Amino acid sequence: MELGLTKEDYKLFLKDALSNSIVVGGKCKNNCIFCSCKAQKAAGLKNWTNYISLNDLNSILDIINVNKIIHFGEGPSFLSCEPFQHTKYLDFLEVLNTHFTNTLKRATTIGTNVNPNDYDRLRKMNIEFIVSVNTFNKKIRSQIMKTTEKEYYNLIDFLKNCQDLIYKISLFYFNIDTLQEDLSILNKIN
Ligand code: SF4
Repeated sequence: MELGLTKEDYKLFLKDALSNSIVVGGKCKNNCIFCSCKAQKAAGLKNWTNYISLNDLNSILDIINVNKIIHFGEGPSFLSCEPFQHTKYLDFLEVLNTHFTNTLKRATTIGTNVNPNDYDRLRKMNIEFIVSVNTFNKKIRSQIMKTTEKEYYNLIDFLKNCQDLIYKISLFYFNIDTLQEDLSILNKIN
């Protein structure tokens, strides 16, 4: 995994940081068919970057607004992958939290790449997550997100054991039966 943005990508990173969004960059190994990175590629545009380095992160800390939520993972003008695929995500989050302990951090994740050994560490970071579940239906997940059995159980474990860290869960409407089934599973988890 290459750490450190190119000069060209850094300009977008800086632009997003000015709106309190710190992206982590990267090339996602998940394979969601709806991924905007794929749309970028289909349009002939660059669809991945290097991962951000600690130097990249440190360089924008001075422009972060302590009075606004800090989005750590994605930004409006910068392609970014699932944050937990950045192998230093938690280390960098710790750095961010050292500087902005009292400022709420927020990130979006599909929840399949979170290591259960990291739950308690995450609890110390003043961060909350939007979890893009899409659906619990294994058949649909395997078609649209290529989710493996292990990843599926990682997601369920995260939702069950980290409710205090979750701000919002999003489900996609495929049809009414799937939605009802998804809501029923979600109720059981909660
Ligand atoms: S997890 Fe996110 S970035 Fe990765 S393939 Fe899926 S939609 Fe794309």
